[in-house]
Amino acid sequence: MNAINWSDWRIPDGKALDLSRLPTLPKASSETDKLQWPARMTVLAEELNRLQAMLYASKTRGLLLVLQGMDTSGKDGCIRTVFAHISPLGVRAEAFGVPQALEQRHDFLWRIHGKTPALGEMVIFNRSHYEDVLVPVVKGQIKHAECEKRWHHIRHFESLLSDSGIAIVKCYLHISKDEQKKRLQARLDDPLKHWKVQASDFEDRRHWRAYMHAYAQAIQATSSDTSPWFVVPADSKAYRDLMVAELLVHTLQSMTLCMPRPTLDVRDFKMK
Ligand code: ADP
Repeated sequence: MNAINWSDWRIPDGKALDLSRLPTLPKASSETDKLQWPARMTVLAEELNRLQAMLYASKTRGLLLVLQGMDTSGKDGCIRTVFAHISPLGVRAEAFGVPQALEQRHDFLWRIHGKTPALGEMVIFNRSHYEDVLVPVVKGQIKHAECEKRWHHIRHFESLLSDSGIAIVKCYLHISKDEQKKRLQARLDDPLKHWKVQASDFEDRRHWRAYMHAYAQAIQATSSDTSPWFVVPADSKAYRDLMVAELLVHTLQSMTLCMPRPTLDVRDFKMK
């Protein structure tokens, strides 16, 4: 199987971005490898498990995975699949909804900072501080100048995390408007999925172009060497999950983690 080239989907710093030009499906060459995706996922799951155990034991680094995307882009599903075989010890998923009254009275990073990973932890953000730029700008509550200020604060915030040993991987799960239509319809058709149906999903869909523009601007303003954005084709659920797993494994491998030195000489202990 050709290696899945996650680096194809990395957005370089400051490069002008038009999401409508980026694919929501994998390349044809990756499609031909489709049959081998499950086997690759098994290998990645094992490697992720091994590396996460080392991250937890060594407590020298942390990892933050930010998942963003339109409704039905698969943030929940991706978390369920990619982290299915990892010990919950040291792993946490945090979801961010509409800010509550107290949160609204603080700066927009206040509720986020306390949820970031400690050294040794892996944390997944299901939505994030990026909502605080995307939603208000699409709703016309803030203007471009305020967006620029918030991107600036985000860059500094993420740079603080990075300087504190936290690796950051940000994935925009890129689905097409047609694929979203199918997935929303599937939710309406399945009584077990009715709990997920929100009026805001349909409202946001009406502002699709404005969201694409807001996402493109936010991504290009905040992708950096230490906190890169990846635009992951997400119309195929299997490919989306594989890409995110590849990215996490690569990020953990590049930390060159090792197990902590034993505090005791194990040769002193004999089993009777
Ligand atoms: P999800 O859609 O992620 O499964 P919910 O159905 O709880 O989860 O939706 C969360 C909602 O909260 C989304 O519509 C999202 O845009 C909104 N939201 C999250 N953060 C903010 C924010 N900072 N400002 C405004 N809306 C937000």
